[in-house]
Amino acid sequence: MNIVIFGPPGAGKGTQSKYIVNNFKLYQLSTGDLLRSEIKNKTKIGLEISSIINSGELVSDKIVGDLIEKFVSNKTYRNKTIFDGYPRTITQAKNLDNLLKKYNQKIDIVLKLSVSLETVKKRILERQSQEKRSDDNELTAIKRFKTYEQSSQPVLDYYMQSNLLKVINGEATIPEINSEISALIEGIKGWL
Ligand code: AMP
Repeated sequence: MNIVIFGPPGAGKGTQSKYIVNNFKLYQLSTGDLLRSEIKNKTKIGLEISSIINSGELVSDKIVGDLIEKFVSNKTYRNKTIFDGYPRTITQAKNLDNLLKKYNQKIDIVLKLSVSLETVKKRILERQSQEKRSDDNELTAIKRFKTYEQSSQPVLDYYMQSNLLKVINGEATIPEINSEISALIEGIKGWL
C-alpha cells in the first residue's frame, strides 16, 4: 500500500498523514520535513534551498527526487509509504512512477484535500505560532498557494487519468476527514 496525499499548504496533509501512519501502520515521507532537516543541518543542499523555501517556490525536481530515492529504495518502507507533499509537479509524478516501478511498487491511491485560500491563510498563521516554520507567514502562504495552483493541475489530471484520484473536502473537521480517508483506504482491494 502506497498513498499520495496531495493539497495546498495548510490543507492538513501532515495531520492526516500522521493519522494514516498510526491507523494503517505506514511510514510518512514528507519532502517538506526532509528539506527542512537539510536546512537545519546546514548541509550543502540545505544552504542551496533555504531561500527558495522561504520565498514559497518549489525546490528543483532533481533535489527532491534524489531525497526520495533514498527512502523508496529502503526495504523497511517498501509498499508502506505515504508520500506527503510529493509529487508536486508533473515531472515529479512521472519520476515517482518510474522510481516505484524500479523497486516493484506502485501508487494505490491519491488523496486530494481541497481547501480555499482563506482557510490556508488562517491555518498557516495558527501553525506559525505553534511550529515557528520560517515559511509560515501570510505573504509566503499566499505565494505557496499560488505555486500550488500553478503546478498542481497537471498532476491531478495525471492521477485522474489513472483512476487513482479521490477528492476530499479539507474544510471538514479533522475526525470527519479521518473517517472519510479510512473508508477510502479500506475500500482498496487487497489492502491488508
Ligand atoms: P511542505 O512542508 O510540504 O509545505 O513544503 C514546504 C516547502 O518545501 C515548499 O513550499 C517547497 O518550497 C518545498 N518542497 C516540499 N516538497 C517539495 C516538492 N515535492 N517539490 C519541490 N519543493 C518542495
